[in-house]
Order: sequence, then C-alpha cells, then structure tokens
Amino acid sequence: MLQVKPTILVTGGAGYIGSHTVLALQKAGYEVIVLDNLVHGHREFVEDILQVELVVGDIGDRPTLDKIFATYTIAAVAHFAAYIAVGESVDNPAKYYRNNITGTLTLLEAMVAANVKKLVFPSTCAIYGMPKQVPMTEDHPQNPLNPYATSKSVMERMLADFDRAYNLRSIIFRFFNAAGANPDGLLGEDHHPETHLIPLVLLTALGKRDSIAILGTDYATPDGTCLRDYIHVADLAHAHILGIEYLLQGGKSEIFNLGNGNGFSVRQVIETAQQVTQKPIKTLECDRRPGDAPILVGSSEKARAILGWSAQYPDLKKIITDAWQWHQHRHR
Ligand code: UDP
Repeated sequence: MLQVKPTILVTGGAGYIGSHTVLALQKAGYEVIVLDNLVHGHREFVEDILQVELVVGDIGDRPTLDKIFATYTIAAVAHFAAYIAVGESVDNPAKYYRNNITGTLTLLEAMVAANVKKLVFPSTCAIYGMPKQVPMTEDHPQNPLNPYATSKSVMERMLADFDRAYNLRSIIFRFFNAAGANPDGLLGEDHHPETHLIPLVLLTALGKRDSIAILGTDYATPDGTCLRDYIHVADLAHAHILGIEYLLQGGKSEIFNLGNGNGFSVRQVIETAQQVTQKPIKTLECDRRPGDAPILVGSSEKARAILGWSAQYPDLKKIITDAWQWHQHRHR
C-alpha cells in the first residue's frame, strides 16, 4: 500500500534556504504547505518551480495560522521566515524584533494551540559573536553582535522555554555561511539588496557590478582576508529533513551547528569564481567591515553523531559552480 508521508508547513518557503528545503521535502515524499509574505520571497519558486500550495501571509498573523492548522494536518513546521540583513538590523532593530521575535512567538502560540509540537529552526553562527576558538562547537559562549543575531538568540531561548512548558520539540540548526544553489539552476539566492560575498562576486562576473570589494586584507590569516565556512544550501536542506525525521520519531530537542568544517578566504572565493566563470572579476582592496571575525569555522560533529548528517558538497568549486548556474539562469 502506498504510504502518504506527513504534511510539513514551511514558513519562508519562497526564500533561499526555505525553497531548497521544500524541494528536499518533496524529494523525500512529504506533502508541503508554504506560508510566505513574499516581502523577500519569490512567488514563482513556490508556484511555478516547486508547485506546492502557497499561502501568502505573515507569521505574525494569528488568524492565518489558525486557518492553516485547522485546514491541514500539519506534522511539523520548518520555520525559515525571518529578516536576515545584518546591516539593516542595526539601522532598524524594531523591524527585526517585531517580525522575527514577535512573529515567531505568534507562530509558536498557534502551534501549541493546534497541538503541532515539532519544529525545525534555522539559526546562525552569528549568535556566537567573535570566536574564542575554532572550529566552534555548540557550547561556544554566545555574544550576538547585532539585532539580527540577537533576534535568533532570543528565538532559540523561546524554543527552550516552549519545550519545557508546552513540550514543543525543536531542532535548531546554527548555519555557517549558506551558499550554492540547486544544480538545475532554477532555485537560488536572490536578495535585495545583496550583501553576501559569493552572489556579489558572481554578479561582478556577470557584469552587473563593476568590482568586488575585498573587505580587509590585513587579517591574521594565510592571505590576509577573512576565512568563512561555506556550506552548500542542498546540505542545509538535507539536514532539515533529517531533523524533521528525528522529531517525528520522538527525538528530543537539540541544537546543531551546520558547516562544512573548512575555511575558505575571500581571495580563494574570488579565484575559484574566476576559474568557474572564466570571466574577469575586478577586485578592490578595502577596509575591514566592522564586526567581521577573521575566521568563522564550525564543528558539525554533533550533527554527524546524532543525525548522521555530513556535508555532501564541501568543495568550494562545486558550491560556486552551482551558484553560477543559478545566476546565469536568473540574469539571462
Ligand atoms: N566580504 C567581502 N566583500 C563583500 C562582502 C563580503 O570581502 O562585498 C567578506 C566579508 O568581510 C566576510 C566574507 O566576505 O569575510 C563573507 O561575508 P558574507 O557577508 O557573505 O557573510 P558573513 O560571514 O558576514 O555572514
């Protein structure tokens, strides 16, 4: 007999990591409902490419949430909907606290009311602040340096409290630098404004930008530029499937880092992009960006040990090749 897999609600499923997770859920046989307010998400990802049901609405809109939970039998929620721009969060913290924190609170309250008590949640390595040791493990002290990171830290705390009080079980994934795209080139990273290194480098290769700024060349690293742990978005999406399965099997709340364990410098990213794209990429050596750590590399040993997760695409060239497919498709 054909077994129907449970239905998963994906908030922010029209965004970058959310849409890749919807794809991974579909491939694993799950039913999916997406809730996205489309402020930054892409309607066409959900309706045309993934072809799953899209509810256009806000995580802070309790009637919309109640209606979803009344209409569908939701087994678990993957909660991606959040504002994520660090610089904007410094200029407009109210927006981050209102949307990310109070929106999440509304979602969690609606879940408890509907007796939906399993959630996977993307957090960020930014909650650690400046690294005291690398690779960073989950017990690294926390010192979020901006309102975006603070909002994620508060949401993590809320999840711990909701577990204790209401038995809402959660898997928290602290990502290092999400990058890459689905190899078919149909889903990818498209933020406005774009602030992340790899898309900015590829937009430069496409001629959409004149040059890429290297933000700091005097760090105590092998080539003077910052090292980051770039993790393929398909690997992140896969982790969410494992997290959901773990919860559906009765697993307890856990927190996991997700990184590929390797640090790549800004110069290595640009050189690799030059090889992949075969285009000239003009660079400008600039001052450091305030708040940037010289090296951010994570240990994902815990995710390996408990979930059996490991990065399938740790190679920088593969990550950039897949991102390039997407950028070429997006800017045809
Ligand atoms: N970076 C850079 N030029 C840019 C944007 C970023 O040199 O135009 C550097 C940044 O200083 C950091 C790395 O690239 O060392 C990754 O930055 P990104 O904003 O992609 O992610 P973050 O590590 O800040 O989350």
